[in-house]
Amino acid sequence: MKRRQFVGAGLALAATWPLRGFTSVLKGVGDLPAKTLAGGDAMLPGSSIEALAASLRGDVLLATSPDYDRTRRVWNALFDKKPALIARCTGASDVRQAVNFAREHQLLTAVRAGGHSLSGKSSCEGGFVIDLQQMQGVRVEPETKRAYLEAGSLLGQLDHECAGFGLATTAGTVSHTGAAGLTLGGGLGRLGRHFGLACDNVASFDVVTADGRFLRASDHENPDLYWGLRGGGGNFGVVTSIEYRLHEMNPVILGGNVVWPIEQARDVLRYYRDIAADAPDAANLAPDLHWEPDGAKLAIEVCWSGDHAQGEAWLKKLRALGKSVRDDIAPMPYVALQSSGDEILGVGQYYYLKGGFLTQLKDDGIDLMIDAFKRMPSWFLLFFDHGGGAYRHMAPAATAFPNRDMLFALGTIGIWPNKDGIEENSEKVRANWRELEPLTKGFYTNLAGPEMTMAHYRENYGANFERLVALKAKYDPTNLFRLNANVPPKMA
Ligand SMILES: Cc1cc2nc3c(=O)[nH]c(=O)nc-3n(C[C@H](O)[C@H](O)[C@H](O)COP(=O)(O)OP(=O)(O)OC[C@H]3O[C@@H](n4cnc5c(N)ncnc54)[C@H](O)[C@@H]3O)c2cc1C
Repeated sequence: MKRRQFVGAGLALAATWPLRGFTSVLKGVGDLPAKTLAGGDAMLPGSSIEALAASLRGDVLLATSPDYDRTRRVWNALFDKKPALIARCTGASDVRQAVNFAREHQLLTAVRAGGHSLSGKSSCEGGFVIDLQQMQGVRVEPETKRAYLEAGSLLGQLDHECAGFGLATTAGTVSHTGAAGLTLGGGLGRLGRHFGLACDNVASFDVVTADGRFLRASDHENPDLYWGLRGGGGNFGVVTSIEYRLHEMNPVILGGNVVWPIEQARDVLRYYRDIAADAPDAANLAPDLHWEPDGAKLAIEVCWSGDHAQGEAWLKKLRALGKSVRDDIAPMPYVALQSSGDEILGVGQYYYLKGGFLTQLKDDGIDLMIDAFKRMPSWFLLFFDHGGGAYRHMAPAATAFPNRDMLFALGTIGIWPNKDGIEENSEKVRANWRELEPLTKGFYTNLAGPEMTMAHYRENYGANFERLVALKAKYDPTNLFRLNANVPPKMA
């Protein structure tokens, strides 16, 4: 976000002052059809929309507003939804007004931070979007090793600010992903085996609950909410800022890929499985099967976030394996590795993803994956995240995130530049996944697709589900925040 700079008194201030008032102005708005929480249609009085706009410092966008189209778009072009109105919040005060408006009018409501939801849940057709994209900024306090992040910030901002002070915490693997959505669902990343999930490193959240209250959730303030926000997604309110605990880390890591022809994938993946299981926590090894112009390849991406000499020594066994066609592991800035996938997973393409966790990986499972991959076209990618390590340092009941026993996260994804053949292609990804799914145990709620239902979430949350339901009843009894990995306010 471009913040207005009050660089001096007098002229500079006078020059910027008229550009923006303290509240946004919307006049002459007619009544607007909008979707309700119950799935019905309502007419929103124009006067209420004007009053909302007057109460915000940010803008209220309608379909006729110049910024509407740009603002409503999300990462995955597959979810081309047109909300009735969008509140572009600039801070917690705006968020409270927006939440009160949503509740009073019982509107179908989506909350959007980075817009990367794999189920398209951060927008909605005909409803209300509480948009946090303008709430960006990260402040690092080196003395206390804390980062304070506004909830619309992207991972790249968090990583960059931390690296400048020789500090880090777990974030995801693509720098344009939203920090809030990722952290609320758990947060796997290249440092996860070293420092735990992103949510394990949260010291506190600021959150606006469905009744419009502004609460702090931490170990000693609203600890029940603190428990639920670490893995329970957006179920309990709109998080407006996050305080992360940071760790000292050399901002230059050992990173890169070793790449082998697909013919060697069976041997390399078997060996990978064995060394990955008890690798040092500083090692994150993430394989993927992908297509290059001269054929299919297996790559193992390395992020070694510990001592370089130890890393070089440990990585020797991986690099010596088989006859690789490429090996570019070298010292590099952590933030460079963190943005290495930004382009291939760029904003505005069409994506379809299926995935789940693996708690074991047998030889026949590896064979199945390679065979299933080889039958897919060049727009298809199969990838692993490396589990174990510090992900397991907390018990499954210590936070709402339930899948602590994962050894790997397995994902498959189709990527297309345009809409052509999307239905047929998505069905190919689904058919492929039907073969692989029996290898998995549970799934990552943050990678769940639109077809996942409350029953799936219930099963996945397992023993944590009842506690989540009780929290939902306490903080969001009417299920205002339902466009997420949704937990109901009472057991079915
Ligand atoms: C390219 C890409 C790479 C990814 N890589 C990783 C990875 O490495 N590791 C990983 O763990 N995950 C990864 N993910 C999954 C990611 O964690 C989820 O997509 C996550 O929900 C994205 O957060 P967001 O803020 O961008 O999404 P949004 O679409 O804005 O939000 C996602 C969900 O969270 C809710 N939400 C968002 N912000 C708030 C808030 N402030 N308060 C309350 N609810 C909120 C939304 O309502 C929605 O339900 C990746 C996703 C993509 C698309």
